[in-house]
Amino acid sequence: MRKVQRPNDLPKDVLLTCISNYQDEDLISRMESAAPLIVAASDLFEEKVISKTLHTLEPHDHEGVSGIVSTKEMKNIYNDKFAKKGQPGRDIYDRILNAPKLNKCPICGHRVVSTLDHHLPKAKFPALSITPVNLIPSCYDCNNTKKTAIPFSAEEETLHPYFDDVEGDLWLKAEILEGKPIVFKFYVTQPDNWDELKYKRARNHLKIFELGKLFSINAAEEYSMRELTLKRIYTKSGSEGLKIQLKDYAESAEAVHLNSWQSAMFRALEGSNWYLDKYFETEVSSSKI
Ligand SMILES: [Zn+2]
Repeated sequence: MRKVQRPNDLPKDVLLTCISNYQDEDLISRMESAAPLIVAASDLFEEKVISKTLHTLEPHDHEGVSGIVSTKEMKNIYNDKFAKKGQPGRDIYDRILNAPKLNKCPICGHRVVSTLDHHLPKAKFPALSITPVNLIPSCYDCNNTKKTAIPFSAEEETLHPYFDDVEGDLWLKAEILEGKPIVFKFYVTQPDNWDELKYKRARNHLKIFELGKLFSINAAEEYSMRELTLKRIYTKSGSEGLKIQLKDYAESAEAVHLNSWQSAMFRALEGSNWYLDKYFETEVSSSKI
């Protein structure tokens, strides 16, 4: 999970921008009446996400925004006036969408951003449909994997790229399943300065977004592209030379992102005595005969 600068657009401004080209006077009037409630819901959301108590928020889809604006109308304002190209809210949508560096999805840190994910789904929390801090730039898969899941406990809250900063601590690791082809299994480890809740949330983040599978598949491919190079180093310089090279790869990856799957993969290889001593041993010794 990668940190992203939070959007500073105010919920009321977003709402007024979105309704600026509505023709239906009754709808405009009701949206304006609902504005203070939407602002209050947004403020409460932010307070709860910071205090890790989002699970205490009750879904309000049955009443829309206090019965003034329906859930369907809130979904429509997001789809037709905020996310749709050429509509008044689209500039704000684009600004949020384009915030992550290199256009990488902050949730998985791997795929490309293509949409905005509602941290709390608009189907269950319609008042938060166009709340900027509830909208996270996301790849299609992360958005689609979570769907409309909501947390029922603090542990179930996935990490939030605007409010959680986990980039400075080492928490993503991989273990090697010994065999050929080599398999990497990713898991979350608890840094000393993390409490149990943060650890459980990070673990849940990996689980909900199915990141272990994504990382394993990509690590297997990345490793296979490096194997010939690594085998040559082992042949020339043995286990020690291999370890030095892998440490170098790990440090290079860590200099960019400490908890990328690449960093975890190289750390796992460098730390595996089985890999360093045994993996190439048979092939290299038999080719010398
Ligand atoms: Zn993603």
